[in-house]
Amino acid sequence: MIGRAKQRNPQAIVVSVGCSSQANPSVYKDLGVDIVMGTTERNQLVNHIESFEKQPIVHVATDIRGDETFESTTISTDSDRTRAFLKIQDGCDNFCTYCIIPHVRGKSRSRDFEDVMSQATQFAENGYKEIVVAGIHVASYGKDLQDRNLIDVLSAITRLEGIERVRLSSVEPNVITPEFCEFVAKTPKFCDHLHLSLQSGSNGILKLMNRKYTTDDYYRAVEQIRTVRPKINITTDVIAGFPTEEESDHSQTKQFLQTIRLSKIHVFPFSAKMGTGAAGMAGQIPKSVKKQRCKELLEISDRQENAYYQSFVGKVMSVLVEETTKDGFFLGKTTNYMPVAFTADKSDLANQIVAVKLNSVDKNRLVGILQ
Ligand code: SF4
Repeated sequence: MIGRAKQRNPQAIVVSVGCSSQANPSVYKDLGVDIVMGTTERNQLVNHIESFEKQPIVHVATDIRGDETFESTTISTDSDRTRAFLKIQDGCDNFCTYCIIPHVRGKSRSRDFEDVMSQATQFAENGYKEIVVAGIHVASYGKDLQDRNLIDVLSAITRLEGIERVRLSSVEPNVITPEFCEFVAKTPKFCDHLHLSLQSGSNGILKLMNRKYTTDDYYRAVEQIRTVRPKINITTDVIAGFPTEEESDHSQTKQFLQTIRLSKIHVFPFSAKMGTGAAGMAGQIPKSVKKQRCKELLEISDRQENAYYQSFVGKVMSVLVEETTKDGFFLGKTTNYMPVAFTADKSDLANQIVAVKLNSVDKNRLVGILQ
């Protein structure tokens, strides 16, 4: 892509930014990138572009784990017109053995609470109705601050005028504490959706992954949240073919997923990231086996997603409208993150929350009509 970008736009300055160029700056420089930046000091990007002449610029921190500041980049609108992503935390201290993030994004650090709220207020003033609270490991929010935690952030955002929905990006089971459930129970604006990473249904593999929970912990967390939100949409990530994963581990994962009935499983074949613990482990799994395991997990996902969506047919739900298709459908999401296509006798409903009667399931979405 870099080659193509340069070929098509010979006058352009090509920049690479993020985890991959943090991990391998020389690779990007050798590919002909003009400005190579990593995961810190990205607010210098404009300066670098303005001062660029001919010599490549490599601006990548070498001691990434020594960085303890949250780099705040304020934006007033998001590329998504209806859902604003609010980053409150960066970095991670967990060192899951398959993950490169702690090596390229540094220590976990929280965004200052006042700064979080100023950004959230700006989103609300710009007309956003939904905020997605995001971070690399959001559950760590507040561990390096005094007197603030994730629940404080979520509650403060739900109190902002104009904000109708607050959603959490990916979390792990340990975020589901009695306090969290209490907050969810009394906060209707908190969306009925959690993306709760599982990664494997085998305790042996979870241990090798250095995940900090067992399948029992995960099961308990799901049961707890379902006591306050029985129909909550819980989606997850699973890695297929982690080193040493036996057929019996894979069967345990399938069994666990069938018992716990999540509504969508994002399945990834294990891919070794240079520099991580898992990359050097013995017992790497052949590609064909990973492929077959992914296929089986995706079949479970499709069945469970369909069953979950079917359970809403006939109901009226609120939908935040995102766009209109050429063939006259409005597209949007319910609070529990189900995609909905519906018809209405209107010309524009973008960024409005409307009531839609859900009539059927068509592939991976619900189809309905405006009420
Ligand atoms: S998978 Fe998540 S928790 Fe684990 S090291 Fe990566 S970012 Fe941290």
